[in-house]
Amino acid sequence: MKSVVERLRGEGPVFSVEFFPPRDAADEAVLWRSIRELEALDPAYMSITYGAGGSSRDGTIRNIARVATETTLVPMAHLTAVNHSVAELRNVIGWYAAVGVRNILALRGDPPGDPYGEWVPHPEGLNYAEELVELVRSLGDFCVGVSAFPYGHPRSPDLASDTKYLVRKFRAGAQFAIAQLFFEPEDFLRLRDRVAAAGCDAMLIPGVMPLTTPRTLKTTIKLSGASCPQWLLDRLGPLESDPKAFRAEGLDVVTELCERLIAEGVPDLHFYTFNRSKATREVVQRLGLVPVRA
Ligand code: FAD
Repeated sequence: MKSVVERLRGEGPVFSVEFFPPRDAADEAVLWRSIRELEALDPAYMSITYGAGGSSRDGTIRNIARVATETTLVPMAHLTAVNHSVAELRNVIGWYAAVGVRNILALRGDPPGDPYGEWVPHPEGLNYAEELVELVRSLGDFCVGVSAFPYGHPRSPDLASDTKYLVRKFRAGAQFAIAQLFFEPEDFLRLRDRVAAAGCDAMLIPGVMPLTTPRTLKTTIKLSGASCPQWLLDRLGPLESDPKAFRAEGLDVVTELCERLIAEGVPDLHFYTFNRSKATREVVQRLGLVPVRA
């Protein structure tokens, strides 16, 4: 099975898709319909996020194993250091390896229920994603990615230290980073420039959210950690009570963003799907990222 970086070294640009673990059987059926619909478009890889609690974590492990064994997709499992001892982390990494998952997105994670809240380390665990990168790399032939923040991680005192710690994750063995959501291509490109100026030529991948509803816009604003630019509020705000018009305009906004990122030579566009495939399929089809056979 190919690694993420091997999949991204072909004739670019490509797209990839992210899901979260299902909460129940009905959710799982929806997830799998979306996985199958996107599999037909041959994304470079797919990933499943890693939650803070037991059942959600089981859902990641069970479903990523199914993807590895039952589909043609390249799976990437997220893993966080939240509430895990090093021994438990070693176990999870061992499970991933046992089911054939070679790609891991190594994250510190957030305290349960509190995005970007105060970090509470496990007494026998790790403190930073950098240490998790080292642990994963020490345990086998894994391709490891990390997260990056165009506006800086909300707990970083400034962009200089944020860049310094991102570069340390690459020096620790990460081979690529996926960026948190952002609004303007320049926001991502400035992150890329900062990393390059630090003497690092690591692969940076933009994260993209199809803006189909006012809720997806609110989530984007929250996750980005930045305020929404006025031009975007002006375009989407007046359409909040017209779902069809909001969706059409939102997908136009996202398509335009992706077109500009492709023109800037990004290797991959990583779509946050919310476990639904339709909007991502529409955007990648409009961008011409779909193989002819699809
Ligand atoms: P780190 O890289 O450890 O950074 C955390 C903070 O510490 C930053 O401010 C950083 O600058 C600072 N720092 C880093 N290293 C050092 C050091 N050596 N010394 C001092 N300071 C340091 N969360 C989940 O719970 N599950 C997921 O599946 C998940 N998937 C994600 C996918 C993507 C693409 C992104 C962008 C985020 C994802 N997250 C996920 C959220 C992420 O876990 C949180 O944003 C978390 O707060 C930061 O994780 P990190 O890996 O960037 O942490």
